[in-house]
Amino acid sequence: GSKSKVTVVGSGNWGSVAAKLIASNTLKLNSFHDEVRMWVFEETLQTGEKLTDVINKTNENVKYLPGIKLGKNVIADPDLDNAVKDANMLVFVTPHQFMEGICKRLVGKVRGDVEAISLIKGMEVKMEGPCMISNLISEQLGINCSVLMGANIANEIAVEKFSEATVGFRDNREIAEQWVKLFSTPYFMVTPVQDVEGVELCGTLKNVVAIAAGFVDGLDMGNNTKAAIMRIGLREMRAFSKLLFSSVRDSTFFESCGVADVITTCLGGRNRKVAEAFARNGGKRSFDDLEAEMLQGQKLQGVSTAREVYEVLSHRGWLELFPLFATVHEICVGRLPPSAIVGYSEKKPRLS
Ligand code: NAD
Ligand code: 13P
Repeated sequence: GSKSKVTVVGSGNWGSVAAKLIASNTLKLNSFHDEVRMWVFEETLQTGEKLTDVINKTNENVKYLPGIKLGKNVIADPDLDNAVKDANMLVFVTPHQFMEGICKRLVGKVRGDVEAISLIKGMEVKMEGPCMISNLISEQLGINCSVLMGANIANEIAVEKFSEATVGFRDNREIAEQWVKLFSTPYFMVTPVQDVEGVELCGTLKNVVAIAAGFVDGLDMGNNTKAAIMRIGLREMRAFSKLLFSSVRDSTFFESCGVADVITTCLGGRNRKVAEAFARNGGKRSFDDLEAEMLQGQKLQGVSTAREVYEVLSHRGWLELFPLFATVHEICVGRLPPSAIVGYSEKKPRLS
């Protein structure tokens, strides 16, 4: 049969690592074209050069993943329409807040039979209620969309340290197997699970838990407190996911996308790191400020996700059921001090 062409939409820290993983496999596997297109949101570097030119010249994303060769078959393309037009497989991996705009621009621009996968941890809240990013992609573009989530701190995978990941798929196992083939390497072990909503909600909600863990670190509360936050967070993740989608499976929370991602993000993630600084500053410096200073263009997902979750909770009358999620948002917006991250348990009922 004909070979599949793969395009990666996004080129941040994880986007660049995803392109590297995929490009190492397309070279080896006959069913894929060697070349991997990577759409880059174009920017001019301090040197005056365009980021795409530098990536194509040096084979490195010098801004978002410095020091790592992506593979010569990764081609950076600043033109979104051109990058997607011939693709049979589209990998979406941008910060979630940009996806509505990107989807609008892509309507009518992708092949009708294209398969998509989202590596994006986040959701949108619309008038009708919450909308997962894979769903946004499916509905706006009229295409099928799977997800890949997991305990995947990009900088560790970039240097080929072992990790696992979970592919969530809707009903077509063959397509899931295609994605597993495209991503798997000896140091990246991918397992398919037929629970797209559960997998995506795990990846999305753990960022809220990571913010809570960062507060605990900033207040020097120690390991027992942090473990308590992870446990309570995981329970709220499961309860929230099941209230939104009754199809979500308990077993999904034991996959890499669930408990493992909670752990790694609460130990070593960016959301944790910036939330720690927020708490150390007593909440006096905003997350936007700290993000710009500490992450140099990389983006947090947890603060906006906490707001989005809060909107759903208040709209549905579920605030009391999710004290950890609700408290994270209230701390982020300054209504409560960081120390309230453990205080809520005295005032509010817990999940059974
Ligand atoms: P990032 O945090 O490095 O964000 C920077 C990217 O955003 C750059 O490519 C930049 O060009 C782009 N950008 C900035 N403004 C933009 C705009 N207006 N429109 C479009 N793009 C714009 O990105 P990332 O680390 O690749 O994260 C992408 C997704 O992957 C997120 O949902 C994140 O939660 C998830 N993720 C990240 C990691 C990680 O370790 N970095 C691991 C797993 C999952
Ligand atoms: P952060 O965005 O908090 O760094 O988390 C990365 C991640 O999703 C690891 O799986």
